[in-house]
Amino acid sequence: MTAVRNVLISGAGIAGPALAHWLQRHGIRATLVEKAPEARTGGYAVDLRGAAVDVAERMGLLDRVRAAATGITRASVVDARGRTRAGFPTGLAAGEGRSLEILRGDLVGLLHDAADAAEYRYGDAVAALDQSSGDAVLASFQGAEAEPYDLVVGADGLHSNVRALAFGPERPYRRFLGGYVSIATVGDHLGLSGEVRLFNTPGRLVGLYRTPRAEGAKALLLHRTPHETDVDRRTPAEQREHLRAVFAGAGWETDRILSMMEDSPDFYFDSVTQIAMDGWSRGRVVLLGDAAHCPSPMSGQGTSLALVGAYVLAQELARRTDAATALAAYERRMRPYAAANQAIADDGLAFLAPRTGFGIGARNALLRSAPLLKLLGRLDRKVPRAVEAIELDTP
Ligand SMILES: Cc1cc2nc3c(=O)[nH]c(=O)nc-3n(C[C@H](O)[C@H](O)[C@H](O)COP(=O)(O)OP(=O)(O)OC[C@H]3O[C@@H](n4cnc5c(N)ncnc54)[C@H](O)[C@@H]3O)c2cc1C
Repeated sequence: MTAVRNVLISGAGIAGPALAHWLQRHGIRATLVEKAPEARTGGYAVDLRGAAVDVAERMGLLDRVRAAATGITRASVVDARGRTRAGFPTGLAAGEGRSLEILRGDLVGLLHDAADAAEYRYGDAVAALDQSSGDAVLASFQGAEAEPYDLVVGADGLHSNVRALAFGPERPYRRFLGGYVSIATVGDHLGLSGEVRLFNTPGRLVGLYRTPRAEGAKALLLHRTPHETDVDRRTPAEQREHLRAVFAGAGWETDRILSMMEDSPDFYFDSVTQIAMDGWSRGRVVLLGDAAHCPSPMSGQGTSLALVGAYVLAQELARRTDAATALAAYERRMRPYAAANQAIADDGLAFLAPRTGFGIGARNALLRSAPLLKLLGRLDRKVPRAVEAIELDTP
């Protein structure tokens, strides 16, 4: 396969514009096709940790990411009457180490600014991919003529369209972790500031946080269930109904949050799922970010994997004259890092939503002792190790 000079990227979320930035710096042309009518702003808070902080710095974005940080520094676990049962700095939950938190939409805005030389096609999607000619991939669009590209990148998230077109349906690649997550903007009726409050009943978590960067507060609902159902594929109205059935009457502010979620403009609901694949490329089609290796929100590492993956893929494409060798090198470098960060999520649900009242009490006791454990150097090092688990060669 010859070198890559002209790339189509499906998805202008995190991984897509980050890749476009690096491609343009390496002199490779990038076109982004995004199904949404415009770049999405707002949204929930995401983390940049470890190696991803270095990538943001090499992109020249670190100061702007710091300036847009959410400013959430404290978390507290409350009981049904709102009394604090455990309080801790958020850095402890993130495993300490190098970490920055930013609203996903703010980061998308910064990444789009950093990839302003790319061509953006909003409100469109890839409809078909044809690799029969061998030396190019012909992409057809829903709203434009088919065009040949040297490479097509699926950076279109957990439910990737490019993955479906090149690798087939999602089902064999899904790894259900045993829960459903919902997040939505609601009113800040508690007057929170730079704080997240968490409330548990067995197998359920209700969270509320506020950042001065956005209007209102973000409500998070997480619940565990051993079996996957089709609830994530139902309509938002049916998903809300499901949440009412699971959470109504749970205590604390839950009923109020449920009622505010009814009119939320950005209601999100999905299963807690990872993507696990034996290979991330097929000919001239390659997957990046959540499309390739979604670690699930339980890892807190999806954004970092997307940013680092974009950096590594662009670097390998620029440094090799053969596309197949570049894609193999990208996968070889990224796989151990992606695997280490997917592994973080295994304990995530059990920690955030313990199954029993006893488990909730034990988890709270652990959180209360976390500052002391840190002082004694006894905090678990799994997360800080995973977020640094890749060598970034010089750009
Ligand atoms: C509730 C929640 C909390 C999270 N918390 C964290 C956290 O704390 N820390 C963290 O690091 N990560 C977190 N994540 C994960 C993080 O948001 C993702 O891992 C990250 O956004 C992945 O980036 P991506 O670019 O691969 O995919 P996405 O950000 O999902 O972007 C995909 C883009 O592709 C577009 N698209 C989809 N389909 C098509 C199509 N057919 N054609 C064209 N475009 C398409 C989408 O509109 C979107 O713009 C969280 C996720 C959720 C849901």
